[in-house]
Amino acid sequence: MAIESEVLVVGGGLAGLTSALAATRAGADTRLVSYKQSTLRNASGLVDVLGYTPEGEGPLTDPYAAIPSLPTEHPYRTVGVEGVREAMTFFDEVGPDYRGGHTDTNALLPTHGGTIKPTARYPAGADAGLASDERDVLLVGFEAMVDFDAEHAAAHLEAAGVPFDVRGVTIRFPGELRADAKVTRYAKLLDTDGEVAVRGRNRPVRTALAERVNTELEGEARVGFPAVLGDDDAAGVRADLRAALGADVFEVPMGPPSLPGLRLEDALFDALDRAGGRFETGNPVVDSDGDGRIERVYVEKNGAKIPNSAEQYVLATGGLVGKGVDSDRETVYEPIFGCHVPHDDDRYEWFDAEAFGDHEFARFGVRTDDDLRPIGRDGGIEFDNLRAAGSVLGGYDFAAEKSGSGVSIATGYAAGRAAAEAAR
Ligand SMILES: Cc1cc2nc3c(=O)[nH]c(=O)nc-3n(C[C@H](O)[C@H](O)[C@H](O)COP(=O)(O)OP(=O)(O)OC[C@H]3O[C@@H](n4cnc5c(N)ncnc54)[C@H](O)[C@@H]3O)c2cc1C
Repeated sequence: MAIESEVLVVGGGLAGLTSALAATRAGADTRLVSYKQSTLRNASGLVDVLGYTPEGEGPLTDPYAAIPSLPTEHPYRTVGVEGVREAMTFFDEVGPDYRGGHTDTNALLPTHGGTIKPTARYPAGADAGLASDERDVLLVGFEAMVDFDAEHAAAHLEAAGVPFDVRGVTIRFPGELRADAKVTRYAKLLDTDGEVAVRGRNRPVRTALAERVNTELEGEARVGFPAVLGDDDAAGVRADLRAALGADVFEVPMGPPSLPGLRLEDALFDALDRAGGRFETGNPVVDSDGDGRIERVYVEKNGAKIPNSAEQYVLATGGLVGKGVDSDRETVYEPIFGCHVPHDDDRYEWFDAEAFGDHEFARFGVRTDDDLRPIGRDGGIEFDNLRAAGSVLGGYDFAAEKSGSGVSIATGYAAGRAAAEAAR
Protein backbone atom coordinates (compact mmCIF):
# COMPACT_ATOMS: atom_id res chain seq x y z
CA MET A 1 0.00 0.00 0.00
CA ALA A 2 1.31 3.45 -0.86
CA ILE A 3 2.09 6.03 1.81
CA GLU A 4 -0.13 8.98 0.93
CA SER A 5 -0.17 12.74 1.39
CA GLU A 6 -1.55 15.77 -0.42
CA VAL A 7 1.89 17.26 -1.06
CA LEU A 8 5.10 15.22 -1.23
CA VAL A 9 8.39 17.11 -1.12
CA VAL A 10 11.50 15.24 -2.24
CA GLY A 11 14.66 16.68 -0.64
CA GLY A 12 15.39 18.01 2.85
CA GLY A 13 17.69 20.96 2.16
CA LEU A 14 16.75 24.61 2.48
CA ALA A 15 14.47 24.47 -0.59
CA GLY A 16 12.64 21.28 0.45
CA LEU A 17 12.21 22.40 4.05
CA THR A 18 10.89 25.82 3.00
CA SER A 19 8.56 24.17 0.53
CA ALA A 20 7.22 21.67 3.07
CA LEU A 21 6.75 24.42 5.66
CA ALA A 22 4.92 26.64 3.17
CA ALA A 23 2.64 23.80 2.04
CA THR A 24 1.92 22.69 5.62
CA ARG A 25 1.17 26.20 6.77
CA ALA A 26 -1.12 26.66 3.77
CA GLY A 27 -3.17 23.74 5.13
CA ALA A 28 -1.96 20.80 3.02
CA ASP A 29 -1.21 17.38 4.48
CA THR A 30 2.50 17.39 3.63
CA ARG A 31 5.31 14.81 3.74
CA LEU A 32 8.98 15.39 3.08
CA VAL A 33 11.31 12.56 2.15
CA SER A 34 15.03 13.10 2.05
CA TYR A 35 18.12 11.02 1.66
CA LYS A 36 21.41 12.37 2.99
CA GLN A 37 22.34 15.56 4.76
CA SER A 38 21.86 18.70 2.73
CA THR A 39 24.44 21.24 1.63
CA LEU A 40 23.52 23.32 4.71
CA ARG A 41 26.09 21.22 6.57
CA ASN A 42 28.72 22.78 4.29
CA ALA A 43 27.23 26.21 3.79
CA SER A 44 28.10 29.17 6.00
CA GLY A 45 24.58 29.50 7.41
CA LEU A 46 24.35 32.97 5.87
CA VAL A 47 21.29 33.55 3.72
CA ASP A 48 22.30 35.42 0.58
CA VAL A 49 19.68 36.85 -1.75
CA LEU A 50 21.97 38.40 -4.37
CA GLY A 51 25.49 39.66 -3.74
CA TYR A 52 26.68 40.16 -7.33
CA THR A 53 25.12 40.36 -10.77
CA PRO A 54 25.78 37.51 -13.22
CA GLU A 55 28.30 39.87 -14.85
CA GLY A 56 30.18 40.12 -11.55
CA GLU A 57 29.12 43.66 -10.59
CA GLY A 58 28.93 44.22 -6.86
CA PRO A 59 28.81 43.84 -3.98
CA LEU A 60 25.21 44.91 -4.50
CA THR A 61 23.64 47.23 -1.97
CA ASP A 62 20.01 46.33 -2.73
CA PRO A 63 19.54 42.82 -4.13
CA TYR A 64 15.83 43.41 -4.88
CA ALA A 65 16.60 46.36 -7.13
CA ALA A 66 18.84 44.13 -9.27
CA ILE A 67 16.32 41.31 -9.80
CA PRO A 68 14.40 42.85 -12.75
CA SER A 69 17.66 43.04 -14.74
CA LEU A 70 18.55 39.37 -14.27
CA PRO A 71 18.33 37.08 -17.33
CA THR A 72 14.76 35.83 -18.00
CA GLU A 73 15.73 32.21 -17.20
CA HIS A 74 16.89 33.17 -13.67
CA PRO A 75 14.64 31.60 -10.96
CA TYR A 76 14.16 35.04 -9.35
CA ARG A 77 12.55 36.25 -12.58
CA THR A 78 10.11 33.30 -12.33
CA VAL A 79 8.93 34.16 -8.82
CA GLY A 80 9.33 37.95 -9.23
CA VAL A 81 10.62 40.61 -6.83
CA GLU A 82 7.51 40.50 -4.64
CA GLY A 83 7.70 36.70 -4.55
CA VAL A 84 11.27 36.86 -3.25
CA ARG A 85 10.33 39.49 -0.68
CA GLU A 86 7.31 37.48 0.54
CA ALA A 87 9.43 34.34 0.86
CA MET A 88 12.09 36.15 2.90
CA THR A 89 9.37 37.47 5.22
CA PHE A 90 8.11 33.90 5.57
CA PHE A 91 11.66 32.79 6.48
CA ASP A 92 11.84 35.56 9.09
CA GLU A 93 8.58 34.29 10.60
CA VAL A 94 9.25 30.56 10.64
CA GLY A 95 13.02 30.42 10.74
CA PRO A 96 15.52 30.57 13.57
CA ASP A 97 16.94 33.70 15.20
CA TYR A 98 18.25 35.54 12.14
CA ARG A 99 18.86 39.24 11.57
CA GLY A 100 18.76 41.53 8.56
CA GLY A 101 15.01 41.48 7.92
CA HIS A 102 14.61 45.13 8.90
CA THR A 103 16.05 46.35 5.60
CA ASP A 104 16.35 45.47 1.89
CA THR A 105 20.02 46.46 2.00
CA ASN A 106 22.65 43.73 2.10
CA ALA A 107 24.64 43.44 5.31
CA LEU A 108 28.42 43.11 5.06
CA LEU A 109 29.94 40.35 7.17
CA PRO A 110 33.54 39.24 7.69
CA THR A 111 34.28 35.65 6.65
CA HIS A 112 36.81 33.25 8.15
CA GLY A 113 39.15 34.04 5.25
CA GLY A 114 39.08 37.75 6.06
CA THR A 115 36.94 38.79 3.10
CA ILE A 116 33.74 40.82 3.37
CA LYS A 117 30.58 39.12 2.18
CA PRO A 118 27.28 40.78 1.22
CA THR A 119 24.35 38.85 2.65
CA ALA A 120 20.64 39.38 3.30
CA ARG A 121 20.13 37.44 6.55
CA TYR A 122 22.64 36.29 9.15
CA PRO A 123 22.46 34.36 12.42
CA ALA A 124 21.99 36.46 15.58
CA GLY A 125 25.41 35.20 16.67
CA ALA A 126 27.11 37.04 13.80
CA ASP A 127 25.33 40.34 14.52
CA ALA A 128 28.10 42.06 16.48
CA GLY A 129 30.57 41.29 13.68
CA LEU A 130 29.04 43.55 11.02
CA ALA A 131 31.73 45.23 8.92
CA SER A 132 29.76 48.48 8.92
CA ASP A 133 30.16 48.71 12.72
CA GLU A 134 33.08 51.01 13.59
CA ARG A 135 34.05 49.43 16.92
CA ASP A 136 37.49 47.78 17.08
CA VAL A 137 37.71 43.99 16.82
CA LEU A 138 39.85 41.24 18.28
CA LEU A 139 39.62 37.97 16.32
CA VAL A 140 40.41 34.86 18.35
CA GLY A 141 41.42 31.62 16.64
CA PHE A 142 42.04 28.22 18.25
CA GLU A 143 45.32 26.36 17.61
CA ALA A 144 43.59 23.13 16.63
CA MET A 145 41.16 24.82 14.23
CA VAL A 146 43.53 25.54 11.38
CA ASP A 147 40.68 26.65 9.08
CA PHE A 148 40.52 29.94 10.94
CA ASP A 149 43.83 31.79 10.98
CA ALA A 150 42.85 34.83 13.04
CA GLU A 151 46.00 36.87 12.32
CA HIS A 152 45.65 36.25 8.58
CA ALA A 153 41.93 37.09 8.61
CA ALA A 154 42.61 40.31 10.55
CA ALA A 155 45.32 41.37 8.09
CA HIS A 156 42.97 40.73 5.16
CA LEU A 157 40.19 42.75 6.75
CA GLU A 158 42.53 45.68 7.39
CA ALA A 159 43.71 45.50 3.78
CA ALA A 160 40.07 45.53 2.65
CA GLY A 161 39.72 48.91 4.37
CA VAL A 162 37.25 48.12 7.14
CA PRO A 163 36.32 51.19 9.25
CA PHE A 164 37.79 49.78 12.50
CA ASP A 165 41.07 48.40 13.86
CA VAL A 166 41.26 44.64 13.86
CA ARG A 167 43.82 42.29 15.43
CA GLY A 168 44.05 38.52 15.42
CA VAL A 169 45.40 36.13 18.06
CA THR A 170 45.54 32.34 18.20
CA ILE A 171 45.12 30.63 21.56
CA ARG A 172 44.84 27.11 22.83
CA PHE A 173 41.22 26.20 23.58
CA PRO A 174 41.07 25.44 27.32
CA GLY A 175 40.90 21.77 28.30
CA GLU A 176 41.83 18.59 26.57
CA LEU A 177 39.77 18.54 23.37
CA ARG A 178 41.49 16.33 20.80
CA ALA A 179 43.37 18.14 18.07
CA ASP A 180 40.89 16.84 15.47
CA ALA A 181 37.77 17.48 17.61
CA LYS A 182 34.63 18.19 15.59
CA VAL A 183 33.03 21.63 15.77
CA THR A 184 30.10 20.00 17.57
CA ARG A 185 32.44 18.90 20.42
CA TYR A 186 33.43 22.52 21.08
CA ALA A 187 29.79 23.56 20.89
CA LYS A 188 28.54 20.85 23.27
CA LEU A 189 31.27 21.58 25.81
CA LEU A 190 30.35 25.28 25.74
CA ASP A 191 26.60 24.47 25.82
CA THR A 192 26.95 22.49 29.04
CA ASP A 193 29.66 24.79 30.44
CA GLY A 194 31.58 21.60 31.26
CA GLU A 195 34.60 21.65 33.57
CA VAL A 196 38.06 21.80 32.00
CA ALA A 197 41.44 21.49 33.69
CA VAL A 198 43.58 24.63 33.44
CA ARG A 199 47.01 24.40 35.10
CA GLY A 200 45.72 21.67 37.41
CA ARG A 201 42.55 23.52 38.39
CA ASN A 202 39.07 22.64 37.17
CA ARG A 203 37.15 25.60 35.75
CA PRO A 204 33.86 25.92 33.81
CA VAL A 205 34.88 26.19 30.16
CA ARG A 206 33.14 29.52 29.49
CA THR A 207 35.02 31.12 32.40
CA ALA A 208 38.32 29.50 31.38
CA LEU A 209 37.95 30.70 27.79
CA ALA A 210 37.08 34.25 28.85
CA GLU A 211 40.03 34.35 31.30
CA ARG A 212 42.41 33.30 28.53
CA VAL A 213 41.01 35.85 26.03
CA ASN A 214 41.07 38.61 28.68
CA THR A 215 44.87 38.36 28.72
CA GLU A 216 44.84 39.26 25.00
CA LEU A 217 42.24 42.03 24.98
CA GLU A 218 43.56 45.54 24.47
CA GLY A 219 40.34 47.46 24.89
CA GLU A 220 38.63 46.15 21.75
CA ALA A 221 34.84 46.49 22.00
CA ARG A 222 34.14 43.31 20.00
CA VAL A 223 35.61 39.82 20.02
CA GLY A 224 35.07 37.39 17.12
CA PHE A 225 35.42 33.62 17.51
CA PRO A 226 35.06 30.79 14.99
CA ALA A 227 31.42 29.68 14.80
CA VAL A 228 31.53 27.00 17.52
CA LEU A 229 30.01 28.98 20.40
CA GLY A 230 27.32 26.52 21.48
CA ASP A 231 24.47 24.80 19.74
CA ASP A 232 21.40 24.45 21.99
CA ASP A 233 22.42 27.39 24.19
CA ALA A 234 24.38 29.54 21.75
CA ALA A 235 22.77 32.76 23.08
CA GLY A 236 23.70 31.78 26.65
CA VAL A 237 27.32 31.08 25.68
CA ARG A 238 27.63 34.47 23.98
CA ALA A 239 25.99 36.25 26.91
CA ASP A 240 28.37 34.68 29.45
CA LEU A 241 31.43 35.44 27.35
CA ARG A 242 30.20 39.00 26.77
CA ALA A 243 29.77 39.55 30.51
CA ALA A 244 33.16 38.07 31.37
CA LEU A 245 35.01 39.93 28.60
CA GLY A 246 33.22 43.25 28.88
CA ALA A 247 33.05 43.20 25.09
CA ASP A 248 30.48 42.19 22.49
CA VAL A 249 30.95 38.67 21.17
CA PHE A 250 30.28 37.34 17.69
CA GLU A 251 30.83 34.24 15.57
CA VAL A 252 32.69 34.35 12.28
CA PRO A 253 30.93 32.06 9.74
CA MET A 254 33.19 29.14 8.85
CA GLY A 255 33.65 26.68 6.00
CA PRO A 256 32.51 23.05 6.16
CA PRO A 257 31.44 21.51 8.46
CA SER A 258 29.38 24.51 9.43
CA LEU A 259 27.67 24.74 12.78
CA PRO A 260 25.45 27.70 11.75
CA GLY A 261 24.32 25.65 8.72
CA LEU A 262 23.50 22.68 10.95
CA ARG A 263 21.67 24.92 13.40
CA LEU A 264 19.59 26.34 10.54
CA GLU A 265 18.74 22.85 9.28
CA ASP A 266 17.74 21.67 12.79
CA ALA A 267 15.62 24.78 13.38
CA LEU A 268 13.70 24.28 10.12
CA PHE A 269 13.05 20.57 10.82
CA ASP A 270 11.78 21.60 14.29
CA ALA A 271 9.54 24.25 12.71
CA LEU A 272 8.16 21.69 10.25
CA ASP A 273 7.48 19.27 13.09
CA ARG A 274 5.69 21.98 15.09
CA ALA A 275 3.60 22.98 12.07
CA GLY A 276 2.39 19.38 11.68
CA GLY A 277 4.41 18.41 8.57
CA ARG A 278 5.62 14.82 8.38
CA PHE A 279 9.10 13.80 7.31
CA GLU A 280 11.27 10.76 6.74
CA THR A 281 15.03 11.01 6.26
CA GLY A 282 17.78 8.56 5.35
CA ASN A 283 16.24 6.80 2.34
CA PRO A 284 16.44 7.87 -1.30
CA VAL A 285 13.63 8.29 -3.79
CA VAL A 286 14.83 6.11 -6.64
CA ASP A 287 12.06 6.08 -9.21
CA SER A 288 8.66 7.43 -10.22
CA ASP A 289 5.60 6.44 -12.25
CA GLY A 290 3.51 8.71 -14.37
CA ASP A 291 3.03 10.08 -17.82
CA GLY A 292 2.13 13.76 -17.89
CA ARG A 293 1.12 13.43 -14.25
CA ILE A 294 3.18 11.83 -11.46
CA GLU A 295 1.27 8.92 -9.91
CA ARG A 296 3.80 7.85 -7.29
CA VAL A 297 7.46 7.80 -6.36
CA TYR A 298 9.42 4.92 -4.85
CA VAL A 299 11.51 5.23 -1.70
CA GLU A 300 14.20 2.58 -1.36
CA LYS A 301 14.27 1.13 2.13
CA ASN A 302 16.20 -1.98 3.16
CA GLY A 303 16.27 -3.18 -0.45
CA ALA A 304 12.49 -2.72 -0.96
CA LYS A 305 10.85 -0.02 -3.08
CA ILE A 306 8.08 1.61 -1.04
CA PRO A 307 5.49 3.52 -3.11
CA ASN A 308 4.63 7.05 -1.92
CA SER A 309 1.80 8.86 -3.63
CA ALA A 310 0.49 12.41 -3.47
CA GLU A 311 -1.63 14.81 -5.42
CA GLN A 312 1.24 17.29 -5.84
CA TYR A 313 5.02 16.84 -5.78
CA VAL A 314 7.94 19.20 -5.20
CA LEU A 315 11.38 18.28 -6.51
CA ALA A 316 14.02 19.82 -4.22
CA THR A 317 16.93 17.41 -4.52
CA GLY A 318 19.72 19.96 -4.97
CA GLY A 319 22.15 20.54 -7.80
CA LEU A 320 25.31 18.82 -8.96
CA VAL A 321 26.74 18.82 -5.40
CA GLY A 322 23.73 17.01 -3.90
CA LYS A 323 23.16 14.76 -6.96
CA GLY A 324 19.77 16.27 -7.69
CA VAL A 325 21.33 16.87 -11.09
CA ASP A 326 23.75 14.23 -12.35
CA SER A 327 25.94 13.75 -15.39
CA ASP A 328 27.95 11.15 -17.26
CA ARG A 329 30.30 11.57 -20.21
CA GLU A 330 27.38 11.99 -22.61
CA THR A 331 24.64 13.87 -20.88
CA VAL A 332 23.31 15.81 -17.89
CA TYR A 333 20.10 14.56 -16.32
CA GLU A 334 17.66 14.76 -13.41
CA PRO A 335 17.57 11.20 -12.02
CA ILE A 336 14.15 10.77 -10.34
CA PHE A 337 11.61 12.09 -12.84
CA GLY A 338 13.89 12.33 -15.85
CA CYS A 339 13.19 16.07 -16.22
CA HIS A 340 15.00 17.74 -19.08
CA VAL A 341 18.25 19.54 -18.16
CA PRO A 342 19.37 21.83 -20.99
CA HIS A 343 23.08 21.49 -21.84
CA ASP A 344 25.41 21.69 -24.77
CA ASP A 345 25.83 18.38 -26.67
CA ASP A 346 29.57 18.93 -26.71
CA ARG A 347 30.75 18.24 -23.15
CA TYR A 348 33.91 20.29 -23.70
CA GLU A 349 31.59 23.32 -23.70
CA TRP A 350 30.46 22.51 -20.15
CA PHE A 351 33.66 23.98 -18.69
CA ASP A 352 35.72 27.08 -19.25
CA ALA A 353 39.49 26.75 -19.58
CA GLU A 354 39.91 29.29 -16.76
CA ALA A 355 39.29 28.00 -13.22
CA PHE A 356 37.22 31.11 -12.39
CA GLY A 357 35.81 31.41 -15.91
CA ASP A 358 32.21 31.24 -17.07
CA HIS A 359 31.39 27.53 -16.60
CA GLU A 360 28.18 26.30 -18.19
CA PHE A 361 27.92 23.49 -15.61
CA ALA A 362 27.45 26.06 -12.83
CA ARG A 363 24.04 26.92 -14.34
CA PHE A 364 22.92 23.34 -15.08
CA GLY A 365 19.47 22.44 -13.81
CA VAL A 366 15.84 22.04 -14.80
CA ARG A 367 13.99 25.00 -16.34
CA THR A 368 10.38 25.75 -15.44
CA ASP A 369 7.28 27.65 -16.44
CA ASP A 370 5.98 30.58 -14.33
CA ASP A 371 4.47 28.09 -11.88
CA LEU A 372 7.83 26.32 -11.33
CA ARG A 373 6.73 23.25 -13.31
CA PRO A 374 9.68 21.72 -15.21
CA ILE A 375 9.55 22.14 -18.98
CA GLY A 376 10.78 19.58 -21.47
CA ARG A 377 12.96 19.82 -24.55
CA ASP A 378 9.90 20.84 -26.60
CA GLY A 379 9.01 23.70 -24.21
CA GLY A 380 5.92 21.95 -22.81
CA ILE A 381 5.20 21.19 -19.14
CA GLU A 382 6.61 17.76 -18.26
CA PHE A 383 4.23 16.83 -15.43
CA ASP A 384 1.08 18.66 -14.39
CA ASN A 385 1.62 18.09 -10.66
CA LEU A 386 5.40 18.50 -10.28
CA ARG A 387 7.21 21.69 -9.26
CA ALA A 388 10.92 22.24 -8.74
CA ALA A 389 12.75 24.42 -6.22
CA GLY A 390 16.25 25.27 -5.06
CA SER A 391 19.53 24.29 -6.62
CA VAL A 392 17.96 21.60 -8.83
CA LEU A 393 16.89 24.64 -10.89
CA GLY A 394 19.11 25.90 -13.68
CA GLY A 395 19.74 29.31 -15.15
CA TYR A 396 21.78 30.81 -12.33
CA ASP A 397 25.21 30.40 -10.75
CA PHE A 398 24.67 30.59 -6.99
CA ALA A 399 28.35 30.53 -6.07
CA ALA A 400 29.30 33.45 -8.33
CA GLU A 401 26.18 35.52 -7.60
CA LYS A 402 25.94 34.67 -3.89
CA SER A 403 22.27 33.79 -4.28
CA GLY A 404 22.14 30.14 -3.09
CA SER A 405 19.93 30.29 -0.03
CA GLY A 406 17.77 33.11 -1.39
CA VAL A 407 16.85 31.10 -4.50
CA SER A 408 16.12 28.04 -2.34
CA ILE A 409 13.85 30.03 -0.02
CA ALA A 410 12.10 32.01 -2.78
CA THR A 411 11.40 29.06 -5.07
CA GLY A 412 10.77 26.64 -2.16
CA TYR A 413 8.14 28.98 -0.75
CA ALA A 414 6.46 29.55 -4.14
CA ALA A 415 6.49 25.83 -5.03
CA GLY A 416 5.12 24.79 -1.61
CA ARG A 417 2.31 27.35 -1.69
CA ALA A 418 1.36 26.51 -5.28
CA ALA A 419 1.39 22.77 -4.55
CA ALA A 420 -0.85 23.23 -1.50
CA GLU A 421 -3.24 25.39 -3.54
CA ALA A 422 -3.39 22.84 -6.37
CA ALA A 423 -3.98 19.98 -3.91
CA ARG A 424 -7.18 21.59 -2.60
C1 LIG B 1 30.16 24.78 0.31
C2 LIG B 1 28.90 25.59 0.13
C3 LIG B 1 28.82 26.86 0.73
C4 LIG B 1 27.67 27.63 0.57
N1 LIG B 1 27.60 28.87 1.16
C5 LIG B 1 26.48 29.60 1.02
C6 LIG B 1 26.38 30.89 1.63
O1 LIG B 1 27.29 31.37 2.29
N2 LIG B 1 25.23 31.59 1.45
C7 LIG B 1 24.18 31.09 0.72
O2 LIG B 1 23.16 31.76 0.59
N3 LIG B 1 24.26 29.90 0.12
C8 LIG B 1 25.38 29.13 0.25
N4 LIG B 1 25.47 27.91 -0.35
C9 LIG B 1 24.38 27.48 -1.20
C10 LIG B 1 23.21 26.93 -0.46
O3 LIG B 1 23.63 26.12 0.63
C11 LIG B 1 22.44 26.07 -1.43
O4 LIG B 1 22.20 26.76 -2.61
C12 LIG B 1 21.11 25.72 -0.91
O5 LIG B 1 21.15 25.35 0.44
C13 LIG B 1 20.60 24.57 -1.74
O6 LIG B 1 19.52 24.00 -1.10
P1 LIG B 1 18.69 22.86 -1.79
O7 LIG B 1 17.64 22.50 -0.80
O8 LIG B 1 18.25 23.25 -3.15
O9 LIG B 1 19.69 21.61 -2.02
P2 LIG B 1 20.55 20.73 -1.05
O10 LIG B 1 21.00 21.46 0.13
O11 LIG B 1 21.56 20.06 -1.93
O12 LIG B 1 19.53 19.63 -0.53
C14 LIG B 1 19.05 18.61 -1.34
C15 LIG B 1 18.49 17.51 -0.48
O13 LIG B 1 17.88 16.54 -1.32
C16 LIG B 1 18.26 15.25 -0.91
N5 LIG B 1 18.20 14.34 -2.05
C17 LIG B 1 18.95 14.33 -3.19
N6 LIG B 1 18.60 13.30 -3.96
C18 LIG B 1 17.60 12.64 -3.32
C19 LIG B 1 16.83 11.50 -3.60
N7 LIG B 1 17.00 10.80 -4.72
N8 LIG B 1 15.90 11.11 -2.71
C20 LIG B 1 15.67 11.80 -1.55
N9 LIG B 1 16.39 12.89 -1.23
C21 LIG B 1 17.33 13.30 -2.10
C22 LIG B 1 19.67 15.43 -0.40
O14 LIG B 1 20.06 14.35 0.43
C23 LIG B 1 19.55 16.76 0.34
O15 LIG B 1 19.07 16.58 1.64
C24 LIG B 1 26.59 27.13 -0.20
C25 LIG B 1 26.68 25.85 -0.79
C26 LIG B 1 27.80 25.09 -0.62
C27 LIG B 1 27.86 23.74 -1.29
